Amino acid sequence: MPAEIIELSSPAGSVGPGPADDRMFVINPVGKGIAYGMHEDDNGNPYVYLPPWDGPIYAPPVPDEDGHFLHYDNIDDPQFQAAHTYASIRFTLDVWEGYYGRPIEWYFSQYYPQAEVVVLPAFENAQIGRGFIEIGTDVSKIDGKRSPFTLNFDVIAHEVGHGILFTEVGEPDLDKETGEFLGFQESSGDVVSMIAALHFDSVVDEILQSTSGNLYQANHLNRFAETSAIGQIRMASNNSKLSDFSAGWKDSHLLAQPLTGAIFDILVDIFHEELVRTGAISTTLEEISDLLEGSDQYEQRLQGDFDAAYQAHPVTFRHALIYARDALATLLIETWAKLSPDYLKYTDIHSAMISADRRLFDRAYHNIINVNFEWREIGTAIVGPQLPKDNSGSHSHSTKQTDYGPDHSDTLTIATPCSHSKRREDNEPLNNHGLIQTFSENKDDHSAYCTRRRPVPYARRYREARDLNKPAHRQAD
Ligand SMILES: [Zn+2]
Repeated sequence: MPAEIIELSSPAGSVGPGPADDRMFVINPVGKGIAYGMHEDDNGNPYVYLPPWDGPIYAPPVPDEDGHFLHYDNIDDPQFQAAHTYASIRFTLDVWEGYYGRPIEWYFSQYYPQAEVVVLPAFENAQIGRGFIEIGTDVSKIDGKRSPFTLNFDVIAHEVGHGILFTEVGEPDLDKETGEFLGFQESSGDVVSMIAALHFDSVVDEILQSTSGNLYQANHLNRFAETSAIGQIRMASNNSKLSDFSAGWKDSHLLAQPLTGAIFDILVDIFHEELVRTGAISTTLEEISDLLEGSDQYEQRLQGDFDAAYQAHPVTFRHALIYARDALATLLIETWAKLSPDYLKYTDIHSAMISADRRLFDRAYHNIINVNFEWREIGTAIVGPQLPKDNSGSHSHSTKQTDYGPDHSDTLTIATPCSHSKRREDNEPLNNHGLIQTFSENKDDHSAYCTRRRPVPYARRYREARDLNKPAHRQAD
């Protein structure tokens, strides 16, 4: 995938060295040994380490005479990486401020009007906290390969997503914070990132061309935060159910997966409904679902239908995906506005989204929302208690800093290029999208993983539920 040059909302001339604007400034500190957040001193006493960084910094990138940063084009250059980090944050804010129709202030703006954005290669993580966003490095647990998160749009946008959610939904009191609130935060960070990424033309094109609109294929959209050709941190398309956590949970990023899966499936269902509505798919969704039984044979037939339909209607597919993206974002904004952070449960998100759909879309997606939340057992399964982590070093949330967790790569999943993606050569790198060329390609053989993570065909679930409750709005399809 080629590099894509993007334009940000910041007027030329308004972004200074760093880059820096009125909302943030990027620094590459010299000798910053530890990340911000909770630490312990030599005597084991906890303390909070917060901005500002008052030590020396490496020379920042500076704008050219026209106010742009295009003259930085070497992805290994720390100045490029600082510019890319700034652009990723600003782009994500632009997208979501566009949906809101207003600025989204930092949740810590009463303490820090600008976020200190720290490039911190020694930090094997990324995080947002009071007054800061810190972007470190991914270290592969497979081969130790280091990939800077400064070049990973998904990861940076995920941190911005945490910030947006803290502003728009709020922060619970500590004694009212549930595991599901933490899972909601992690899930929503991924969803904020995914929707922002769908604003890159190159990403939309690549997704559609590589899947013909059958979004359950492994692709950029559901392979969140790709760190190599076939490795990524999480998958939006997953089979996780809430009952997986009935005995308890250890990692909020994993607890997030049923919710992320439900939201992703809702996106796909809205997209496919739009394709049916516009006639880009000649058969109805019900007929497609009748073809889907989860077998390879049926999946091949479905893919064949998608290939043919996409070739015939590529522009309609594009419009449908963009419609679904915007419909979901609008639905989410309305949903989030109805939530309280205290004692939050995923069922609250379900009912808020049902209500948002009623207000915004006249119940057009009522059944889609219900089917996907219910399939994830949200509303039936009960989340168990928080269990001790396998390793120490978990962060306190007392400063409301959120991150991938110290063991974020425990949640690494491997996509299945061997089972799908006929249009993609297995040795073709899945480039990191965004502003840059790929920075990481892992050609190791991970075929042992390739039998996992096959999503249950959504349409089968849809049909199962439809038999019980056929939605009125679908009768015209
Ligand atoms: Zn996170």
